Amino acid sequence: MPKVAKKQQEPSGPFGDMFPYRETFGIYRELPRKSRQPEDVMRELRSIAREEDARWQTGQISGTYYHGGIEHYAYLNRVFSLFSHVNLLQRDLCPSGTKFEGEVIAMTARMLGAELARENDPQADICGAITSGGTESIILPMLAYREKAKAERAISSPEMVVPDTIHPAFSKGAHFFGIKLIRVPVGPDYLADVDAMRRAIGPNTIAIAGSAANYPHGLIDPIEKLSYLALEAGVGLHVDSCFGGFILPWIAKLGYEIPPFDFRVPGVTSMSCDTHKWGYGLKGASVVLYRNRGLRRRMYFSMTDWQGGLYASPTVPGSRSEGISASTWAAMVTLGEEGYLKATRRIMKAADTIKSGVAKIPELKIIGQPTYCIAFTSDKVDIYHVNDFLAERGWRLNGLQKPAGFHLCVTLPQTLPGVATRFVRDIAAGVEYAKNPPATPARSGAVYGGGAASLDPSMVNELMLAWLDASTEVP
Ligand SMILES: *Cc1c(COP(=O)(O)O)cnc(C)c1O
Repeated sequence: MPKVAKKQQEPSGPFGDMFPYRETFGIYRELPRKSRQPEDVMRELRSIAREEDARWQTGQISGTYYHGGIEHYAYLNRVFSLFSHVNLLQRDLCPSGTKFEGEVIAMTARMLGAELARENDPQADICGAITSGGTESIILPMLAYREKAKAERAISSPEMVVPDTIHPAFSKGAHFFGIKLIRVPVGPDYLADVDAMRRAIGPNTIAIAGSAANYPHGLIDPIEKLSYLALEAGVGLHVDSCFGGFILPWIAKLGYEIPPFDFRVPGVTSMSCDTHKWGYGLKGASVVLYRNRGLRRRMYFSMTDWQGGLYASPTVPGSRSEGISASTWAAMVTLGEEGYLKATRRIMKAADTIKSGVAKIPELKIIGQPTYCIAFTSDKVDIYHVNDFLAERGWRLNGLQKPAGFHLCVTLPQTLPGVATRFVRDIAAGVEYAKNPPATPARSGAVYGGGAASLDPSMVNELMLAWLDASTEVP
């Protein structure tokens, strides 16, 4: 056991206890003097992992653990271990990396209409790259659009027009690359307001974007209308399918009405699609796709005069583990269409149970007509009290704001027997609780990735930053 450096501190701050292992396993503030035995370290890690896995294995955690099969994860980890130590930057040493990545990109492109795109557009030549996650798959096309507009239209103050439900990665990319992001409020149907977006387009617009589906409400923006708009304005159109790319095609195949959102739509020039969500791969991978190679070139970086030699890399990182790409490839070929369809059928069955169950609760409203990610709001009760009640019952949902609400993103753990019906029962009981709420304000808020932390709105930003600090420090 490591030595525990004692420092007394209140174990639970405004964000809850961020360091629950201090008593059981101590805290490292410096490297241990002596080496530790791997078995000893593994005992510690196994105990931590078991405890944290038990939390989501109830099926009561929204999103994030998309597959949830321990065997599946163990299999992907075995694949990972074969290539974990290999650096994809040194591609001559691992031609296997080109096989895995090229095939993951090709399979993803085909799933998102790459072949059918040619019927409308003979120039279409869908290509892409593997990135570290959805955020990178979003910010790289932003860079590409900026560079293209600079070269071809001499635009020095680039702007992008997006619906305000779009993922914060767009704001992050705009911040990184000096792009002005114009976030246009969505319409009363919670979808991108195409006319308002048209009015926001100006001479400096480099691209527009929409989601299929968006994170807050799981809704698909009117991509075909956005496509007309993009073609009419002569700008790019990015479709953020981080959240939907690997499930909407299968939902459509099952016979649900899903409007076209991919490269079949002629104005779509780039897409982001996360393998580490519904692709059921390990965390740390996503696919960015472009309609043609010229646009993809705009995101590349290369340098010829460095003492260290010639340097070129397509995406943000330099060194990358081949294990991620190999395990993503393995997830895709192991599941195949058959596996994705089977998983999607289970997810939609659970989602349909939840939607029809909640439809019978008059105090609750489902936002729009969602498929697998269902957002709830209410104008009758304080919805955050409902979320508080659900949190007490072990549910961890994702808080929303404007309007106040929360969503349940149905993943495979929610398809376990009884989970969907338990949710309907508990949310109904939560509404009863919220009808006669306690005197204290609801604890639930709307922190992305933070579950149900309590925040005073006037200090939100400062607290968010303090939270990031706290996430990287020992107490
Ligand atoms: C998850 C998600 C992203 C960002 O993905 P990360 O992998 O977290 O970087 C972008 N857009 C939507 C709609 C998402 O759900």
